[in-house]
Amino acid sequence: MNRALALLRRWDVAAGLVLVGIFVLGATAVRFAPPGSSVAVWWPAAGLGIAFLLATGPNRRRAAIVLAGMVVSSGLANWYGGRTPLVATYFGFANTAEAAVVWWAMTRGGRRPRLAALDDLGRLLLATLAGALVFGVLAGLIVTYALDRTFFPTAYAVTASHAAAVLTLAPLGVAVSTKATIPWRLEDLLQGIVLLAVTLWVFASTNGLPLAFLPLPVLVWGATRLDLRALATQLAVLGVIVVGLTSEGYGPFAIAGKSGAVAPETVGALTQAFLVTAAVTGLALAVASAQRRDALADLFSEATFTQTVLNSAAATAIIGTDSTGTITLFNRGATNLLGYQSEDVVGSLNWVELHEPAEVAARAAELGLSPGPQVLVHGLDQAGRSETRDWTWVTSDQKRIVVDLTISPIVDQDGSVIGYIGVAEDVTERRVASEAVQLALQRERNAVEELTALDQTKTDFLSSVSHEFRTPLASVLGYTEMLEDGAVGEMSPKQLDLVSRIDRNGRRLLGLIEDLLLNSRIESGQLNLAKRPCDLAAIVDHAWEATGPLTQRRNLHLRHEIASRPVTVDGDDTAIERVVLNLLSNAVKFTPDGGIVTLTLDTVRDERGGAKARLVVSDSGYGISEEDQRQVFRRFFRSTDATERAVQGTGLGLSIVQAIVDGHEGTIRVDSVLGQGSTFTVLFPLASAIAPSGPLH
Ligand code: ADP
Repeated sequence: MNRALALLRRWDVAAGLVLVGIFVLGATAVRFAPPGSSVAVWWPAAGLGIAFLLATGPNRRRAAIVLAGMVVSSGLANWYGGRTPLVATYFGFANTAEAAVVWWAMTRGGRRPRLAALDDLGRLLLATLAGALVFGVLAGLIVTYALDRTFFPTAYAVTASHAAAVLTLAPLGVAVSTKATIPWRLEDLLQGIVLLAVTLWVFASTNGLPLAFLPLPVLVWGATRLDLRALATQLAVLGVIVVGLTSEGYGPFAIAGKSGAVAPETVGALTQAFLVTAAVTGLALAVASAQRRDALADLFSEATFTQTVLNSAAATAIIGTDSTGTITLFNRGATNLLGYQSEDVVGSLNWVELHEPAEVAARAAELGLSPGPQVLVHGLDQAGRSETRDWTWVTSDQKRIVVDLTISPIVDQDGSVIGYIGVAEDVTERRVASEAVQLALQRERNAVEELTALDQTKTDFLSSVSHEFRTPLASVLGYTEMLEDGAVGEMSPKQLDLVSRIDRNGRRLLGLIEDLLLNSRIESGQLNLAKRPCDLAAIVDHAWEATGPLTQRRNLHLRHEIASRPVTVDGDDTAIERVVLNLLSNAVKFTPDGGIVTLTLDTVRDERGGAKARLVVSDSGYGISEEDQRQVFRRFFRSTDATERAVQGTGLGLSIVQAIVDGHEGTIRVDSVLGQGSTFTVLFPLASAIAPSGPLH
């Protein structure tokens, strides 16, 4: 049994059987042609052949084999039915031409014939009509020229009979290659039995009542409920029963013919019209319902998908509304955020009621609207628009939460807004944190502003006080000088000693004032260096001389080594002299008696090959701790060591030195070992004309 089924499933075996079937059906149809008619009323052989060709699909080789076989089997059928070999051959070719036309029309573009949409049904109808017309014309020509009959009656009759046969049988060929989508049900069996019973009752009747329409509603029932395969089978069975019984003289059409109500030729036409109507109605409905079923299945899976997505967003509220703001959708995230259950709010609550009323009122005033749902969706009247802003929502237990809500409109096919969708996240904590950060930042900014203003006040104060000090001090020093010079009479040695102390301290005070003034200028970015080419050797020499008074009462070994040729730099000579003096006076101040202070000036190349003037001031004094080395150039910095030893100073000198060196694109560094001494090295770029060309020296 299984082997027999497997054999049937083989295409070549099936093709052979179909060709035999064509022969049997054809011979029978010719035999049953109405008396006096040269052609058959129905030609199921065409329907069978075409059904098989359509099931075979767009495979050209296989189609060619079937078509060649059809020439033979239809020809033989015609010959067996009583036609001459020549006429039989003609009919064989004509039948094959019809099948070829239908197959070609249904598989054009290499597609597999299908009945999935109404367009496909339209294609089948057109293909059937084209095939039937081709056969009608050919059959008309054959009977006209070979059998000496008239063209038109034959052409009409066979076109109709073939169209009916193909329409009732060919769908089976398309349907077998379609997947059955509906599982078998008891209802299907019931519908099949009812259809069979009604068809037999109507078409086997001898009472002549015109009830031919009765099977149609049962067929419609089937078309809306069955899959295509079952319906195509029912159509084929219906065709066989109706044609068989009618040709045997039963049923409304045959009886109308027998009673003389209609002409005998009209009986065939009525039968075919009935079959075509049944096939078109049934197939159209079946295809449309299958499409609807598929669309519903798609919709259902899409809806399930959407539902799953909506509910899996547990921390995001997704709320849908109609165009008035009444809630239509409330996902799990919304329940988690707001505490309401979906069934409590959907259809009964407007989403504006979830909002803090005062906030809605404020926004309404801003927009010039009255408070209400329109405030939330203002301006969102087109697809693709959306608005995101923070809103305060009130939860079911009256807690306020801040949400970041994005609202987008939902529009229908005409572009009118039919609702809105809101997606919100609780950002309360985020907002609180960001407000705190903002506040802290603002406070810091205020503090910085206050400090800057304070610093400016201090700088202004120092600057103006120093100015005010300078003039009276200059006059004090002037008078002291006059006293020392004996302008108001000879002084005793004791008086002279006192006056020279006044002079010394006055000059220190003046130096301090100069430092303060210079510092103010540096702070306000007005160092104003008057640069021009100058000889560093001469400046350094001059500064060395000027340190004389500092070292007068000290027991220090002073050494200096200054380049004998000019060392030209582009600089401000007064400012540079200040650098040298400052470094030298520090070296003297921070070196105890018996120590050494050395000053050297030479030229070198730095690591990048640039020509530099190098000024080195070193001493064998107290030295600077590593930690203090990092701070000595800061304003007002004085090492604890310096303070403890009561060495005079303000902590301004090195910061001024640094500013002047920077102003000359130079560098300064300190190397020191606590208790062993310090070395300050300053590099100034040499003016290019006298840059050394040789190696470092
Ligand atoms: P001042 O000399 O007026 O204190 P400076 O800015 O010139 O101010 O120096 C800052 C600090 O750096 C000094 O107080 C001292 O502690 C340290 N310092 C500077 N030069 C030397 C040096 N040659 N030896 C040891 N310490 C030094």
